[in-house]
Amino acid sequence: MNCSDAIENREVDELFINLDPIQAGGRLTADAMKAVLSYGDGYSVCDNCGKPFRLDTIQKPPLAQFHADLASFLGMDAARLVPGARRGFLAVTHSLVSKNEPVLLTEYSHYTEFLAVEQVLGKPFEVMADSRHIITPDAVAERIEEVIRQEKRPPSLLFVEQVDYQYGNIHPVREIAAVAHQYDVPVLCNGAYSVGIMPVSGKDLGVDFLIGSGHKSMAAPAPSGVLATSSEWTEKIFRTTSITGDQTKRSFGLKEVEMLGCTLMGATAVGMMASFPHVRERVNRFGTQVAYANKVVDALLSIEGTEVASEYPRRHTLTRMNTNNSFDRVAKKHKKSGYFLISALREQGITGIIPGSTRIWKMNTYGVSDRQASYLARSFQEIARNNGLSVG
Ligand SMILES: *Cc1c(COP(=O)(O)O)cnc(C)c1O
Repeated sequence: MNCSDAIENREVDELFINLDPIQAGGRLTADAMKAVLSYGDGYSVCDNCGKPFRLDTIQKPPLAQFHADLASFLGMDAARLVPGARRGFLAVTHSLVSKNEPVLLTEYSHYTEFLAVEQVLGKPFEVMADSRHIITPDAVAERIEEVIRQEKRPPSLLFVEQVDYQYGNIHPVREIAAVAHQYDVPVLCNGAYSVGIMPVSGKDLGVDFLIGSGHKSMAAPAPSGVLATSSEWTEKIFRTTSITGDQTKRSFGLKEVEMLGCTLMGATAVGMMASFPHVRERVNRFGTQVAYANKVVDALLSIEGTEVASEYPRRHTLTRMNTNNSFDRVAKKHKKSGYFLISALREQGITGIIPGSTRIWKMNTYGVSDRQASYLARSFQEIARNNGLSVG
């Protein structure tokens, strides 16, 4: 069966253990798949929409309750669905940052954070990480001081990634937020790799905004995500329209400006909602997932010359490996060059590593079972042995 003559079915996660860093946490639950089929039609959540005609107030399907549950799950006061974490970033920059105002990002900020600053013509300043690849509160304080000296004002906003996409390291967001608040800088915590994967409480972190990605980490269809705020910011970010047409004198009630009224109107919203009970449970099993990640990393480290670039032992399932002195040595002599690794992995039913890379590469073991973790560990070691590397 195919989708159509021109569109083949995608069977990646059916046929392989998929280690793709950006795909592991977004794989749909069976309930989300059912929701996609049932709510695929445009505006399908609008069947029972009534006053004030807003996504977050729809009772059937229970989107209003879902919004309240999301806010409490995140330890924040209000939450809205957004089409991807990036749209959450933009709603915040657009509300808080004016032209030429400084914004603090980090060495590990995602391009979408930069673009959200660029859209409002903000000026980006970056906090660099320390030698352990961690963003420290001290570095944040120093950079804020520098910005104040140079720009004669503190940054209008600080972005901090709870888990960064390059190393999968966990950064001390709570301490960073405390420092930023000493300078009255509001803090946006980017939870693209944490919300839906591990327990995250915006209140515990002391952040003003907490943003998650549905399709990266909440087992939801794309594009989906969540923007949550503390009560202090709710009115500003979720302000309602105040504009009136000059001829018709029309105004638009309680539509929220940054949300352009409504955001996710069908399969995305209901898919995310259908996965939510599973996601709420799975964050409590994060420790087990981290243990599996360490099992795979330990197997890789047993291969001569192999290093882990991420913090170790791992505290997250996204890991950056350095195999310059192991798999890349093989690649230099192998007839398939750097492609030997992905090719050997695929023969074993494993995929998701960037084809051709044997130096620095990332994998995300999120969602594997105990057996799959052991299988991954054995497979990497076997591929190493088969290619003349010794395994300790
Ligand atoms: C993937 C990612 C994003 C973008 O998330 P979307 O939901 O696709 O917009 C932002 N920040 C980080 C750190 C990411 O890894």
